[in-house]
Amino acid sequence: MTQTSPQGQRPAVSFEDRMATVDFRVAERAHITVDTDVCRSCEVRACVHACPAALFVPTDDGGILFNYEQCFECGTCYQVCDAPGALTWSYPEGGHGVAFRQG
Ligand code: SF4
Ligand code: SF4
Repeated sequence: MTQTSPQGQRPAVSFEDRMATVDFRVAERAHITVDTDVCRSCEVRACVHACPAALFVPTDDGGILFNYEQCFECGTCYQVCDAPGALTWSYPEGGHGVAFRQG
């Protein structure tokens, strides 16, 4: 369902509506891998807040759970993470990954 933002300037799109606009052809090999050992010492957790698909989930033991299957391939996580070695990022192998649909 589409809602109006508090400012009334542009519609606030729900998470469900956002995910409904895309198809995913999942590759067997993850195009993004996360080194949870590095994440364990990260206090900022920028990826958790920045990923538009909410694919980074903090775990109780201080690690990060990451699911690559519904990735928009926007590159935001790679941009916001400043911990060397935490993220390894590449595009999915040919024919796989996200496909955006017009509503
Ligand atoms: S991916 Fe980067 S920003 Fe996210 S928890 Fe790990 S080190 Fe922190
Ligand atoms: S590339 Fe974008 S959608 Fe994919 S995990 Fe990173 S921030 Fe999330």
